[in-house]
Parts: sequence; structure tokens; C-alpha cells
Amino acid sequence: MRKLFPDVTADQFPPGHPLRRCQGFIFDVDGVLCRGEEVIPGAPEAIARLRQGGKKVIFISNNSTKSRADYIAKFERLGIPATEDDLVLSTYATARYVAGESPGARVYLVGAPGLAAELVGAGLELVDDPFQAEYVVVGSAFDGSGRIREDNAHRITGALRALYHAGAKFIATNPDRIFPAKDGVIPGTGAVIGALSYMLDREPDAIIGKPSRYIVEIALSRLGLSPGDCAIVGDMDTDMLAGARLGMVRVFVRSGAMTEEKLRSLGIEPDFAFDSVLDILAWEGG
Ligand SMILES: [Mg+2]
Repeated sequence: MRKLFPDVTADQFPPGHPLRRCQGFIFDVDGVLCRGEEVIPGAPEAIARLRQGGKKVIFISNNSTKSRADYIAKFERLGIPATEDDLVLSTYATARYVAGESPGARVYLVGAPGLAAELVGAGLELVDDPFQAEYVVVGSAFDGSGRIREDNAHRITGALRALYHAGAKFIATNPDRIFPAKDGVIPGTGAVIGALSYMLDREPDAIIGKPSRYIVEIALSRLGLSPGDCAIVGDMDTDMLAGARLGMVRVFVRSGAMTEEKLRSLGIEPDFAFDSVLDILAWEGG
């Protein structure tokens, strides 16, 4: 059996390891720890070793359809222990953002039950009448196969009316335009943002997920560390851009949706690049 990690010091990093000085690690989820429901080999062990070494670890995702409760169950299946406090999802971050701006606000939702659960959990009121809405919150209206969700069939019209007639604020969970699925790409939250933005000739008032600062700032405050002492580990340009905006160490992994060549062709230079999270700790110098 392959030895997963070299002999390490008390903090689990060999002397001279470039990430040894980082006290906190913010991990993206899809493409970093898993691909859909399939765990990326070595990810649970790498997370466990970081925690044993006293490093703080938090997970961040632009997923707009799942609540933290959904993700705790997912992490259990992946074999990575996680509590609600370890998870900062765009659903939760969006709910916190709206509730922080306007506690108990009336929200007209385009999105999935997981997003609805976080909005209600943050004390916001979901309304079916667009004319009563103070906020329109937009996540993905599509299921995993790219079919528009039954309960969302009339909601783009509702959101349009809430923004046009009721003067609601326009908040989106994440800017992802498309999403890789098994049979080919499917529309992301961007499909709904794009439709509303084009119809109304206006951008959202805020987009919460990466690369925006909002979601990463929540993760950093949870860690209680300054950005310079933390690394963000991700597989996409958005992860690296979010890290750059906040002055974090940026670690790219090649286990996800974007190739390193593609990343660099966008003019984005990560601080470090590894094949997978396993290789971060297995690094033996060089
Ligand atoms: Mg990812």
C-alpha cells in the first residue's frame, strides 16, 4: 500500500514546507474533496492530518441548492467529519447577508429547497406574492440533470414582477454561469441572473458566492485568523480570484474542473499548484 504521507513534524508539515506557516485552510468542496458524490482519494486523510496538526479547516462552496444540513450528510458519506460551523455555503452566506441587511425581510425566491431552508433558518419570510417582496433571492432553478425545477416553473416571472413592480432588491447566491454534469454542462445560477438582468437591464445588487468577498469573509471570521495566515484551496479561477482579493495564499489543485493551463491562460497565477489535496501534505520538498 502506498504510504500516504512522509514522516512529519508535530504540525504535520515537514520542515521547509511552503504552507507550514498557514494556520487556517479554506477548502473548496467540488473538484477538491469530491467530484459529485465520489470522494477524491486521500482527501479525508489530508483533512484529518491538518486538524491533528492544529490547523483550522473550513469548507466553502458556491453550491446554491443545498443547506448546511444537506452538506453535513454529504460529508458523512465522503468520510470527512464536519459540523454546521465548518461549512460556509452560498445558500447560508446569502441568507446571512439578507438577514444582516434587513432582519425578517420578505423574500421572493427562485431556487431549491436547500436555499429556502437557509433563508427561513435566518429568520427571513418567504412570500409567494411577488408584489409583497422586499428581496428577490436567486439561486439555480435547475435540478442535477438540467431540468427546470417544477416549483420554479413560474418563478422567473414572479421574480421579474417583484423587481419591476415592487422595487425589490436583487441578490444572487453565486455567479456560476454553467455547471459540469455527467451528460454535459447544465445551466447554473447565471441562467437566472442573466435572464433577469437582461429583461430589466440591471445587474444584481449583490452576488454572494466566490469570487465575491462576502462568502470568504464569513469563512475568515469563523476561522478567527487574518487572511495572510490562511490558504484557500480550490480547483477554479473563482477560488484563486477570491483568495487574491483578500490577500490569502492561493493553492490550486488539478483534481477538478479546470486545467492549470486554462487557469494560467486567464492570467491567474496561483501561489502553489498540486495534483490533489493529498499531494499538499505528501510534498517532500523541491
Ligand atoms: Mg470547485
